[in-house]
Amino acid sequence: MESPLKILKRYHIHPVKRLGQSFLVDNNITSRIVDASKIDEGDTVVEIGAGLGAMTAMIAITVKKVVALEIDPKLVAVLGEELKDISNVEIIHADVLRYDFSAPACGGIRIKVIGNIPYNVSSQILFRLIEFREHISSATLMFQKEVADRITAPPGTKEYGILSVIISMYAAPSKIMTVPATCFYPRPKVDSVVLKMDMREGPLYPLENHDIFIETVKTAFSKRRKTLANNLKDMDRLRSKGVDVSALLDEAGIDGRRRGETLTVEEFGRLSNTINHSRCSQ
Ligand code: SAM
Repeated sequence: MESPLKILKRYHIHPVKRLGQSFLVDNNITSRIVDASKIDEGDTVVEIGAGLGAMTAMIAITVKKVVALEIDPKLVAVLGEELKDISNVEIIHADVLRYDFSAPACGGIRIKVIGNIPYNVSSQILFRLIEFREHISSATLMFQKEVADRITAPPGTKEYGILSVIISMYAAPSKIMTVPATCFYPRPKVDSVVLKMDMREGPLYPLENHDIFIETVKTAFSKRRKTLANNLKDMDRLRSKGVDVSALLDEAGIDGRRRGETLTVEEFGRLSNTINHSRCSQ
């Protein structure tokens, strides 16, 4: 395929910052990302933000089908033209944050997700993928380095937070490589990191209620300087039922003087299950 820079020039495309358009112009890196995603001939792959189609064309060589999602109508037209001879690519003009990832996962076979994603919505994309986790076997995605550090951070570090806990509950993330800003056009101000997230068969800890787990994690990190007990006292679900937070933490076997950032993923699971069946103290 022609180089991304030549394609941009030929179609008079000016990258749109608002859509996080920063194109990979180093085909060697694109090829390493595709290799790292461990796709094979039976796979259906959804590519998020297909852009000019360089990665799409590489993925299509190996797999059964590629669904290329792209929000920008100008790029959808470019993709249609550039990939017109590749029969196993379906181009969909869609917002990834509204896309139904269960649709391509037919017959119970889980899909793989790949993408050099727009950085301005990377957390929302991750939460969307977690929603559809039963239909996805892995996601190999490019992130701004700081976001990748947050996703892979262990407890007790300053990077450990909502993303680390929620992703680790449902997926095992591993770092594939660092990608310098020089590999993109236009160049981002930050370095990038590719992570592969293998979705677990089930959550790391047997959760009773996904929504309460998410609410518990968000509450525990809502004010990072406060203790866990003090943050939980502000949780609507507990306040409205008049739940005794100290007794609840005793039941969960967690010291309320700790801060949220010290809890392991398993402890968050146990705490959210205790919150799920908590009753008022009277
Ligand atoms: N895959 C191309 C590459 O590697 O060169 C483009 C990557 S660029 C960082 C991100 C792409 O995502 C852009 O093509 C942009 O238009 C598209 N995009 C941005 N927001 C999107 C959204 N909400 N849904 C789908 N695509 C989106």
